[in-house]
Amino acid sequence: MKVVVLAGGVGGGRFARGVVDVVDPHDVTVVGNVGDDLEVLGMHVSPDLDTVLYMLADLSDTQKGWGRAEETWHALATVAELGGDTWFLLGDRDLGLHLLRTEALRRGERLSAITRRLAGRLGLATTLLPATDDRLRTIIATPAGELTFQEWFVARGHRDEVDGVRFEGAAEATPAPGVLEALDAADLILLAPSNPFVSIEPILAVPGIRDVLVRRRVPCVAVSPLIGGRAVKGPADRMLARMAGGTSPAHVARCYPGLVDALVVDERDAHDLDGLGAVRPIVTRTLMRDADARRRLAEAAVGGVLA
Ligand code: GDP
Ligand code: CA
Repeated sequence: MKVVVLAGGVGGGRFARGVVDVVDPHDVTVVGNVGDDLEVLGMHVSPDLDTVLYMLADLSDTQKGWGRAEETWHALATVAELGGDTWFLLGDRDLGLHLLRTEALRRGERLSAITRRLAGRLGLATTLLPATDDRLRTIIATPAGELTFQEWFVARGHRDEVDGVRFEGAAEATPAPGVLEALDAADLILLAPSNPFVSIEPILAVPGIRDVLVRRRVPCVAVSPLIGGRAVKGPADRMLARMAGGTSPAHVARCYPGLVDALVVDERDAHDLDGLGAVRPIVTRTLMRDADARRRLAEAAVGGVLA
């Protein structure tokens, strides 16, 4: 069975790691968000792709959910010592990857080709692809004005309320090589428990990708990033409350109109399944606290729809 997972960073990576425990990793393609990409200290950083990459390669700092395990911070300490900006955290081990990727991009290699190569080097059987090789940037509208994604998320700690989100460059972007092919060949499409507005939406905003989901002949299953109406981490619950009008499973499902056949929801949200319409709820425990929990959630998402 061939599976495509659309994924952001932490929620996406944890879930994708579970999926490759229940589906042959050779048959899994993860399509990642690049709306969070940025230039830091002259380097091109793709935070969401790297979170997924480290997670799949078992190199991740599983406590934090992002970055590498056993990380050290000497390079950044030097940057601080010398008066440079250190608002965006880059560990020493992580830096090696950014150096290589940036060099390859400057040589003219495409992000998708670089990402494939890095994943291969780390021994992944799974295909990891950016949604697009083109420049696509998430811009957040807040009461304080428009902010770039990382300004809002990291520099200002996502404290600003969000009134809207747009994706600079999306209209001119094309799906990265392999993305539409993987979606066309998929027997199952999964939307990870990632932030619908700033992780999944920027993937769907690449012309052609949402269409494949709209016209799909295979099931598409989303996993809710909320447990008991609250995000496990980050601003997804506040964004849903403000922009979708609530944090119930139906509000999550409405982020994906006509795109999903089933929504995996936590037991703690099972009392509140009204308004899902044609979207079938799959109720289970969705907290991915460890490898077992990740695998069980993936089993529920993959198996629920075949049942
Ligand atoms: P980011 O790009 O690093 O912000 O990560 P994502 O967008 O992929 O994922 C963020 C979302 O993951 C948040 O809304 C969290 O609520 C959700 N999340 C993180 N861990 C878990 C978990 O164990 N279970 C569920 N259901 N959601 C989770
Ligand atoms: Ca992200």
